[in-house]
Amino acid sequence: MTVSAHSRRAAKLSQDAVFAPDFREEPYWWTAAMPEAAQDGAAVLPDAADVVVVGAGITGTVAALELARSGLDVVVVDSQRIGEGAARRNAGFIGRTLKRSVAWLTSHSGQKHAIEVYRELDRALKGVERFVGREGIDCHHRTCGRFIGANSQSHFRGLVDDLEETRRSLGFDYSVIEPENVRSEIASDRYHGGAVIPDLGSIHPGLYHKGLVERAVHAGVRFHDRTYVTAIEENGARHNLHTSRGAIAARHVVITTNGYTGAELKWHARRVIPFSGFIVATELLPEELIDKVLPQRRTYLDTKMNIDFIRPAPDSSRILFGGMTGTKSASALPLAVPLRDRLVDILPDLEGVRLSRAWTGFCAGTFDFMPHIGRNGNVHFGLGYNFAGIPIGTHFGSIIANRILGQGDTASVFDTGRFPTFPFYRGRPWFVPLAMRYFDWHDRRIAKE
Ligand SMILES: Cc1cc2nc3c(=O)[nH]c(=O)nc-3n(C[C@H](O)[C@H](O)[C@H](O)COP(=O)(O)OP(=O)(O)OC[C@H]3O[C@@H](n4cnc5c(N)ncnc54)[C@H](O)[C@@H]3O)c2cc1C
Repeated sequence: MTVSAHSRRAAKLSQDAVFAPDFREEPYWWTAAMPEAAQDGAAVLPDAADVVVVGAGITGTVAALELARSGLDVVVVDSQRIGEGAARRNAGFIGRTLKRSVAWLTSHSGQKHAIEVYRELDRALKGVERFVGREGIDCHHRTCGRFIGANSQSHFRGLVDDLEETRRSLGFDYSVIEPENVRSEIASDRYHGGAVIPDLGSIHPGLYHKGLVERAVHAGVRFHDRTYVTAIEENGARHNLHTSRGAIAARHVVITTNGYTGAELKWHARRVIPFSGFIVATELLPEELIDKVLPQRRTYLDTKMNIDFIRPAPDSSRILFGGMTGTKSASALPLAVPLRDRLVDILPDLEGVRLSRAWTGFCAGTFDFMPHIGRNGNVHFGLGYNFAGIPIGTHFGSIIANRILGQGDTASVFDTGRFPTFPFYRGRPWFVPLAMRYFDWHDRRIAKE
């Protein structure tokens, strides 16, 4: 169904049947952590700083915090309010998952490389827990485990093979959920078995990012919201950044704009592929209903190319559901009904449940499906998280800070010196909806296998 067909269907349904009285088109997380106008937002942009960070998401804020703690003068600029990007819009799943599996990487670039990639992802995963603990950020961090439901019998076999290969190579644990036991994990008949990865976690992303910003401000970082960088010029050992609120010079620049990277950052825009993600939150549900449908209260996703994902909210009795990633729609509203239909299709006990929130945000893919960290002179970047930016963004933010400070952990397997682009690609990903339609076609086909 097209977006306009979805809109017509939504219009036909009674508004009251779909939307709870408290419905808002806004991320659920903003109830506890509304994006902020920065304390310094009204202040004049300074002429110079040691480091200017472009993009106040997770990566940029972690880098800024670490740099300021080491005594550097750090300014963070963001074209929106602080926290208005994906940092406070995501689903809060914390994993070590990439589109490229251990088996795929082993066959394409060798076992040593595959193991290095997944070891670093594991460091990033564990790093979030350590970071949250060290900083004392109250953000509902939980090692809840993740259930992965197989969408077909062949996917079930592939999933188990893949996890077994990962256990053999890296020691990461998992348990198989046979088809007849799926209901011990999720009240759904949609899956042909699955697996649980016990050490993956979840977080309240709004509170996590809010906690990061508070600590960065306390460490002396100056945030400037609604400050849009239009160009970066090299000027000897310094860089001049032109912004919508004046110019600022810096010795080091950090680009952490991810899915919001625009054509003004030419080199970076040519290498990331922005695409939209969509999430809805249900109205308040009885606790017993959540215990019935998601008895282990984990995070849940499936084995499709274009995944659906489910989790309970950590701070109220609602269920969050995401899917239809990459659909061409500037707003989540036209997708609210189809997303609710999909959720009910997976969890029929939720029939009749209404929605309290629907929202969208930008992620960034890359042409090689890998995240990238690197530098061009003194312009550092961490970009292209392919839906896993909480752990990798936190990890890259800290590595970028160490690189500028010349201390600590600075190595990354994701710094390959090769960040691929595509001829004539300028950052306008016209092909994403087509790719997503192909993924949907593929997903419907594999469901029959
Ligand atoms: C719907 C959705 C669900 C997701 N779910 C998960 C999940 O469950 N787990 C997970 O790990 N990841 C998830 N992600 C991905 C994760 O949120 C992102 O990878 C991560 O937040 C992005 O990195 P960031 O936080 O560093 O940047 P962002 O928060 O995206 O911030 C980038 C900022 O750069 C600013 N900017 C851009 N250009 C300029 C400019 N020229 N001048 C000034 N500022 C600029 C933007 O305003 C923006 O605020 C999800 C993303 C979305 C959208």
